[in-house]
Amino acid sequence: MSKRRIFIPEQRVKAGEVELLRPEAKHLVTVLGLRDGDRVVVFDGEGREYDATLRNTGRCKGAALRIEGPGRKAEGGALDVTLIVALIKNRNFDLVVRKAAELGAARLVPVVTERTVKEAGAGVSRWRKISAEASRQCGRADVMDVAEVTQFGSAIASCTGSLRLMAWEGGGTTLAESLRAWAGGSISIAVGPEGGFTHGEVAAARAAGFVPVTLGPRILRTETVPLALLAIMQYVFGDLGGTKT
Ligand code: SAM
Repeated sequence: MSKRRIFIPEQRVKAGEVELLRPEAKHLVTVLGLRDGDRVVVFDGEGREYDATLRNTGRCKGAALRIEGPGRKAEGGALDVTLIVALIKNRNFDLVVRKAAELGAARLVPVVTERTVKEAGAGVSRWRKISAEASRQCGRADVMDVAEVTQFGSAIASCTGSLRLMAWEGGGTTLAESLRAWAGGSISIAVGPEGGFTHGEVAAARAAGFVPVTLGPRILRTETVPLALLAIMQYVFGDLGGTKT
């Protein structure tokens, strides 16, 4: 896969000739050392890729990309997974965002739960940048969507996944059992904060169609759980030959 990849949002790619913003030009010209006439792959965050040629790199302003042709639909992931993850320490949540994007999650919903310990700092715009950067680095042509921070109750109430799992260390069905009963479609996975979900939240999630699943006898850190589950899902049903979605 070419390292010369850059994310330009779909609305700007349509214009044909794309004037680069300063950070974009800096990445291509200063970081990668590219010059006029060099070829670049543009991805638009919606699953399309375009071949492009770099222009005007000698000017301090006005470096641009000429988009060559209508582009192509890049191969998408086989799984449609939404993660609903309780907020945790910023650097650990950053890790969840980056690794979930690499592992092919479609959407991440950061949630406030009853036991969420609030921490100022990171925010949705930063996580969206991390998600786009992870796409560039790992070769995705789409970008994992990061939703606004939402109350846990609203996130589960508006959830549309055909398989809804809640990681719960308090017991429940095994992952293998819950997946056996699944007929395909999108998947939603809820993961609690360091203090865990309250019994009230577990009851509300059950009422919203979530199945509590245990991941075994060890208590995992919040940031471990979505990544472990995504890796298992990709192995069983996803990019490695899955058939259920
Ligand atoms: N406070 C809880 C305790 O001490 O028992 C642990 C919470 S755990 C650090 C954070 C979250 O990861 C949980 O809310 C749950 O969603 C998930 N989790 C951790 N270990 C798990 C396991 N063995 N099975 C299912 N979910 C688990």
